[in-house]
Amino acid sequence: MSHQVPTPIMLTGDRPTGPLHLGHYIGSLKNRVAMQSLQGERYIMIADTQAFTDNMGNIDKVTQAIPELIADYIGVGIDPGKTTIFLQSAVPELVELTMLYMNVTTVSRLERNPTVRDEIKHRQFERDIPAGFLCYPVAQAADITGLKATVVPVGGDQLPMIEIAVETVRRINRLAGKDVLPEPQAMLSSVQRLAGIDGKAKASKSLNNAIFLSDDEKTVSAKVMQMFTDPNHLKVTDPGQVEGNIVFEYLDAFHTDKEEVEALKAHYRAGGLGDVKIKRLLISTLNDLIQPIKEKRDQAFASKGMLFDMLRDGSAKARAAVGQTLNEVKDGLGLFRL
Ligand code: ATP
Ligand code: MG
Repeated sequence: MSHQVPTPIMLTGDRPTGPLHLGHYIGSLKNRVAMQSLQGERYIMIADTQAFTDNMGNIDKVTQAIPELIADYIGVGIDPGKTTIFLQSAVPELVELTMLYMNVTTVSRLERNPTVRDEIKHRQFERDIPAGFLCYPVAQAADITGLKATVVPVGGDQLPMIEIAVETVRRINRLAGKDVLPEPQAMLSSVQRLAGIDGKAKASKSLNNAIFLSDDEKTVSAKVMQMFTDPNHLKVTDPGQVEGNIVFEYLDAFHTDKEEVEALKAHYRAGGLGDVKIKRLLISTLNDLIQPIKEKRDQAFASKGMLFDMLRDGSAKARAAVGQTLNEVKDGLGLFRL
């Protein structure tokens, strides 16, 4: 008997909490663009509902970030003809799925999520954690499964969320006695977590330590110049350390000529290669990548009306798909439907 491999369905997204940065690009956006040349369906969700879980005092910030995000998508090469871009809050069926899924996980399971624990620490919630924030991984399980996604291109910080989504799928399918939902899989890139320009473990919008895809040449240059290198590399002739050196971490991630980077590392380790030289190389490498993206995204941003029309169409399409999944889940569980 021939076994048919289902065509992949991709779902991923971003919180509208600021413009996209190099961490998003290397961790997820590049894979999303690559998925466009494969068979299957693709969805990108602007997670405004999720952004509210820690931004109820910053509604304007979230609202303003929405068109910025769409422009960034267009800038990196997301084609709305191939990828459906939608707004989370425009698909209320996701909330209903979330409420159902809340009952197949536990508070202690959510409290164990290492990414959420880190985020709670960074946001200094202490014991005042918004209930919605603790539960956002459940909502994420609803987003992923609502579109029956099988492939989720994400950075490494999202692995605990995918785990919760997989557990949710298994519980729902077990309760239904059949495979109502497919199990999703994370699609990771070679750089799972790009460091911040301040040397912190993760470049993030919320930590304000990122190089944005909308930064102009001067800003990119200033940010690279601020980067942390080897604090003991005081004179050019001193041997330098490559490990933990953010400039080399970025060169590894973004410079296309790997041999050149390896030769530079050897030179730096031996001594005789100055920080300014490697920083200049990084500046030109990053500007070669970012400036064409910025040009395209600025052009897209100038026609906001068109961006919102596209978001409306995408949201209608996603809503129809999630509505169908919601009914299948309800029927599978034997819920009463009027
Ligand atoms: P926030 O600080 O508001 O959470 P963020 O910068 O973490 O913002 P998200 O919208 O939470 O961005 O993440 C969107 C996607 O980008 C996720 O798949 C996430 O894993 C990935 N991502 C974010 N930051 C990085 C990074 N520094 N390196 C690799 N991937 C990243
Ligand atoms: Mg995040």
